[in-house]
Amino acid sequence: MCGRPFPEGQGIVVQYGDLKLEFHSSKCASKFFKSLLERVEPRVLSPYIKRLVEEYTEVVESKARKRIKVI
Ligand SMILES: [Zn+2]
Repeated sequence: MCGRPFPEGQGIVVQYGDLKLEFHSSKCASKFFKSLLERVEPRVLSPYIKRLVEEYTEVVESKARKRIKVI
């Protein structure tokens, strides 16, 4: 998106519908998605974000449980 070229297989490529977004680095991608979040109305994305946060929390917690079992 910033126009900086990157070798095939590197960088981050996101296919979203018929849009292909290419970022030369994860920093570049997070900058883009941060401004996207700032532009989309919170009520539109909030349910999806909450759901994702829950899923991430579950993964972290199940990893923590496994660690305890090993000990
Ligand atoms: Zn870039």
